[in-house]
Amino acid sequence: MSLPSSTAYDVIVVGSGPTGSTYVREVYDRHPTARILLLDAGPRLTDAPGTHVKNIPDPAERARAQRASEGPGPAGRPGTRLLDAPELPAAAVSTNVGGMGAHWTGACPRPGDGERIGFVPEAEMDAHLTRAEQLLHVDAHAFDRAPFADEVRRRLSTLFDAGRPAHRRVAPMPLAVTTRPDGAHAWSGTDVILGGAAADERVEIADRCLCLRVVLEGDTATGVVVRDTVTGEERQVTARAVVVAADALRTPQLLHASGVRPPALGRYLNDQPQIVYAVRLPDDVVAAHRAVTGRTRDEDGAIVPQSGVSWVPYTDAHPFHGQVMQLDASPVPLADDTGIEPGAVVGLGWFCAKDITADDRIEFDDTTADAHGLPAPRIHYRYSDRDLAGIEQAKKAVAEAGAAIGIPLDDSPFLLPAGSSLHYQGTTRMGAVDDGTSVCDSHSRVWNTRGLWVAGNNVIPTATACNPTLTSVALAVRGADALLAHLEATGNRSAAPPSRLTPSTP
Ligand code: FAD
Repeated sequence: MSLPSSTAYDVIVVGSGPTGSTYVREVYDRHPTARILLLDAGPRLTDAPGTHVKNIPDPAERARAQRASEGPGPAGRPGTRLLDAPELPAAAVSTNVGGMGAHWTGACPRPGDGERIGFVPEAEMDAHLTRAEQLLHVDAHAFDRAPFADEVRRRLSTLFDAGRPAHRRVAPMPLAVTTRPDGAHAWSGTDVILGGAAADERVEIADRCLCLRVVLEGDTATGVVVRDTVTGEERQVTARAVVVAADALRTPQLLHASGVRPPALGRYLNDQPQIVYAVRLPDDVVAAHRAVTGRTRDEDGAIVPQSGVSWVPYTDAHPFHGQVMQLDASPVPLADDTGIEPGAVVGLGWFCAKDITADDRIEFDDTTADAHGLPAPRIHYRYSDRDLAGIEQAKKAVAEAGAAIGIPLDDSPFLLPAGSSLHYQGTTRMGAVDDGTSVCDSHSRVWNTRGLWVAGNNVIPTATACNPTLTSVALAVRGADALLAHLEATGNRSAAPPSRLTPSTP
């Protein structure tokens, strides 16, 4: 369905990735009558909206779904399209129902130490994180049977655990995945977050429906203007609350296009520099472990399909987030003819916390349109001296971790092109007060507006190194609290007849 069937809802959510879907689910669960419109510029890929593409069993069908998510232009990682951004060359977006949440790896570590947001009370944030883990079906033990994972963690623990509190020691990576009764794994897409809301008539999901702008009357958001990307038809739709969850690069674009332009909009852009390295476990360790556990292959002789994923948590003393992935799940490409036992090859990815500055930003040009007719983006991004020093430190740390695990397969750890982490943050960040360095308050309400929320990694104000989606889903849970209070305060929805628009004005 492209254009919404009605012109009046209680809540409109723009962007159907994990954070937009969280607003839908929280409002649906906690408000008995609210009607919600969830719209996305991209296509619906599967019957259940937002199913993770890795759950599509047929490889050809899966590849088709990935291509459909990329849209026109150069493809990045499967399911993503690269932006033309020389200073952030690997910057990419997904455009499909489920957003990047239909393509992600599902690593869901909790933030710690300096990654936490000082002005959000600890206990409240912990409760939001717990709810986010429920919504995403996070499980740290789904791959306990993965070959050699215990051995990899034992080696990492020996190197990193001394002096750490129990909850920040080396551990299995919490992953958004469900183990089915037959032992197979289902990755969490946004179908999991939406749950029963997706099938209820109170919730409408409009795909191929591009939001052109948020409509404001005075300081109050009263709806959106949308375009059917198939027919080009446009329509204005009203609501008592609008949530823009259109990713960290396109949420500020939509605010800009709507005339909502606080000084911090698009600034403090923050992507985690990512260092990678590959090693293999020594042969004697592989042989000994195989003899002891016999766990390298399933009962039927097949390789255990997903190998272990381990976590070296960020701490202020070790200001990196380590994601350690064995073979099948590793992003490091491996030659087919290595002849190495599956699970014995270990890819290490160390994510650094970026030195955050207002100069790193995405800005928009009112005189040039992008492929969708929205103001064209331009990204300014550089590594500071502190970033470069941190990157060198991270390379050293990952080389030490690699040496503790086994034998290097790369000459030395290397830095991926900027933007590779796909963890863009900060462009509509939250703040404790409206002092010009933030776009929204700690409940994600855009400063100096009413009825307008922003969601996504873009609201995170701190220099996280960990994968940010769990945090941004937790902040969406927090924002939904305020949105529900707003619905209570503003009373009942009023319906309006459909109104067709001529092609859009900026
Ligand atoms: P998105 O999921 O990006 O969704 C935004 C949606 O907004 C898109 O569907 C888009 O079509 C829509 N949209 C944009 N503009 C408009 C408009 N004008 N009108 C209508 N709709 C619009 N994160 C982790 O934490 N852990 C991981 O392990 C991890 N692995 C990843 C692996 C891969 C291969 C990828 C691609 C991403 C990974 N990520 C990971 C990142 C993670 O997927 C994102 O952090 C998460 O999806 C962000 O959620 P979101 O709701 O903010 O935005």
